Amino acid sequence: MISSDPQRSASGLRLDPDIAICQSDLPLGWYQEELRPYAEEYLALQDRKPATVLAWMNRYVRPAQEHFGDSLLLLAHFYMGGEIVKLIENYGGAIADSYKLALQAARNPEKKVIVESAVHFMAESIAILAGEDQEVWITNPKAGCTMEMLAKDYMVLPVADQLIERYGDELVVVAYMNTSGRLKALAGRTGGAVCTSSNAHLVVDWARRDGKKVLFVPDQHLGRNTADRLGIDPARVLTLPDPQVTRGAFPVNEKEIEGGLDALDSAEMILWGSFCGVHTIFNTTQIDWFHEQGWEVLIHPESPLEAVRAADGVGSTDFLWNAVMNAPRGAKLAIGTEGHFVRNAREQGRQRGVEVMHLADIPGMQGAGCGCATMSRNDPPHLAGLLDLLRKGEAPDLNRVEAGDAVDEITGDRDRLAPTDRDRLVLEARTALEAMIEVTEASA
Ligand code: SF4
Repeated sequence: MISSDPQRSASGLRLDPDIAICQSDLPLGWYQEELRPYAEEYLALQDRKPATVLAWMNRYVRPAQEHFGDSLLLLAHFYMGGEIVKLIENYGGAIADSYKLALQAARNPEKKVIVESAVHFMAESIAILAGEDQEVWITNPKAGCTMEMLAKDYMVLPVADQLIERYGDELVVVAYMNTSGRLKALAGRTGGAVCTSSNAHLVVDWARRDGKKVLFVPDQHLGRNTADRLGIDPARVLTLPDPQVTRGAFPVNEKEIEGGLDALDSAEMILWGSFCGVHTIFNTTQIDWFHEQGWEVLIHPESPLEAVRAADGVGSTDFLWNAVMNAPRGAKLAIGTEGHFVRNAREQGRQRGVEVMHLADIPGMQGAGCGCATMSRNDPPHLAGLLDLLRKGEAPDLNRVEAGDAVDEITGDRDRLAPTDRDRLVLEARTALEAMIEVTEASA
């Protein structure tokens, strides 16, 4: 059983009624039919300031809260659009990183209706660890992580099967948290584990026991940074072909693999080629610029290796948040991660006399934009509308999240497993999650 731990529900983020929500309106046609009436009302509001948005949301959220009482749990990820996390907190919800979100159903068995505003793999991770009597819902099923969208099961599994055929038990899969349940189950089946950005080095080190070869999915940058941290020879780290080009499911042969099958055979780590567009914008030019101005640079390990090596500190969302919270007055921190997160960290830092900038926000270079666009597809009308429909017993089944669901974030289509297949997947994925927890706790 996963132990209880306070959530960051009291992040200290203040809901300023006059600062507009950092999020573009979605076109009406992007909403599911059932949610369109709510979107129409929202789009007709005079502005996007929390004072206006909250007054509208209260009409739907408050009755749902009264209806479900303590059994309702609202969750959001730190990367959700600037003021959205504060809206969720305003309604008593919790904000966390993907690891802590995943534990929320298990840690709160009294919560029976869990509504998440984040991307699909995060909601599915909650569902994998949820009890039979807990329902998990996502406010927008089309909110997908682009890194995960380049590592769908139909892309990765045919390649993994060929590698397993070639290497048998010598191959162990480590699945980053940003994967579907189907890939987490693959990790469990091969004796591997799930990992997060904060424990990837521990998990990969453990997975390499007895000279085993690691297939790391899906983020090539986190994989490469982890190999670097563990001192693995870069010549023995092989990156598989770009999934944007191949769409995965490629043949594992001399032609497709860079360096050929000899390079594959001698590799200690094999990296899937996916990446996060939000984190790959960071480079040494930005870091040098901030260093010249006397700033300290902290970066997320989904960023390219050269940038990670040049930064003063590297770590997970939680590490970056704590670095801001614990920095001494007068500190200047340039942070290389998602834009909404940095915006919130800047606000917190300002209150404590700590200056925070986004690493990509330097003169003469393209800025970071608003943040993770796909996550921000969960907007106020999605949350208010889904809660209202749940209260009325009319919520679309597409928004209900079960372990093993495979979602096409472009069309919104979903492939759901038969109950027996789902039960097997849950067992295998839990094995991989529990292996991560065990490895991490053993090192504490
Ligand atoms: S920031 Fe990147 S890795 Fe995180 S959810 Fe968005 S696309 Fe995925």
